Amino acid sequence: MSDQHFDLILRGGICVLPWGEAAADVGVRHGRIAAIGLPATATAERVLAARGLHVLPGVIDPHVHLRDPGDAAVESIPTGTRAAVLGGVTTVFDMPNTTPAIIDAERLAWKQDYVERVAWCDMGLYVGATKSNVPELAALERGRGVCGIKVFAGSSTGDLLVEDDASLERVMRSGRRRISYHSEDEYRLQARRGDFHAGMPYAAHMDWRDEECAFLGTRRLLALAQASGRPAHLLHVSTAEELAYVADWRDLVSVELLVNHLTQMAPDAYDRLGGFAVMNPPIRGARHMAAAWAAVRDGSVDTIGSDHAPHPRAAKLKPWPDCPAGLTGVQTLLPVMLDHVNAGRLPLGRMVDLMCAGPARVYGVVGKGRLAVGWDADFSLVDLRRQRVIEESWIASPCGWTQFAGMRVTGWPAATIVRGHVVMQDDTVLGTPQGRLARFR
Ligand SMILES: [Zn+2]
Repeated sequence: MSDQHFDLILRGGICVLPWGEAAADVGVRHGRIAAIGLPATATAERVLAARGLHVLPGVIDPHVHLRDPGDAAVESIPTGTRAAVLGGVTTVFDMPNTTPAIIDAERLAWKQDYVERVAWCDMGLYVGATKSNVPELAALERGRGVCGIKVFAGSSTGDLLVEDDASLERVMRSGRRRISYHSEDEYRLQARRGDFHAGMPYAAHMDWRDEECAFLGTRRLLALAQASGRPAHLLHVSTAEELAYVADWRDLVSVELLVNHLTQMAPDAYDRLGGFAVMNPPIRGARHMAAAWAAVRDGSVDTIGSDHAPHPRAAKLKPWPDCPAGLTGVQTLLPVMLDHVNAGRLPLGRMVDLMCAGPARVYGVVGKGRLAVGWDADFSLVDLRRQRVIEESWIASPCGWTQFAGMRVTGWPAATIVRGHVVMQDDTVLGTPQGRLARFR
């Protein structure tokens, strides 16, 4: 085989490289990037025309809840990863709060095996911390495909809630890798629950789970993280106060923002979407959205996720507080972010840093997150000029809804390639599931 023969060539695209954009053909061999910049004479088993498209490193959504095992009528790993590749996402990190939850070696082994039979994209798996599995966490976090430990310090039920300082400290002293936190303050949530009742509008959700809940939770976690020296990743930071506070903790803390908090705000979201705006932490007002965008621009944010967390449509139509918290988003994450790029809210290179390199850096992913020779041949090919309205008929998740329905966006995924396999092109899923567990340092 000649040096200039490849399994796949992406021809004519504009590559978003770590140092900037360049027109270059990309050659793929054995699932990895073999060359960037090819002579016109290079040949391949398959050539994908990328003229007019931007070739991004595969987008990583580091925050999804694929509900598997759980309710396949809402979402599952086969359907959720299909939604991911339709949306231009090549890797997802899946949360452990399934039914049953992923909190021990046996359930983790089941999931590791299952993923590699049915997933359309690559996956990382979170393991949930509980008050009783602390002795096992150090071993579990080193499991194949494990992206880290997830702690629900507020806003969960049953086994997965770890809300008190003593338990949190035990979890922090249990291993070495960065821990991911949901950090609303459970005590304040419970203390104020009685002030809110049926009959209130959906926006009551935001008043109950207020800024103070988020700030108290984050401040307490960071004090504990400092005492233990254990690095922390704060998921879905949602307030201006938290963003200002974490600036002094950069040696220990990395920060995730959600596309929802960058795109939808109160009161409009609650008026327009009702229960389809209810999530945790809640969608908040203009001051917090402005702080989030400022943090994207000043470099103090590390990752952007979707927090894809589907519920049945009928449940989301219930009045507050019976309507469950959680929105969809793995399929709309990239189109909505590309629209923000086109609107001038962030440069394309910054978006790639937040959605490809950032998750790889924070979670220690091996071989993903940048276009470079020797790295995985994961690509999100996007048409930056394409205009389109997000429609629910496009949504692959069985729940069938998106809070972004009717939004006109500029920028759309044109093809998704996972380790050299073209798994989506022009809104069509191709071939068979090729997903593997991602590798971590
Ligand atoms: Zn979540």
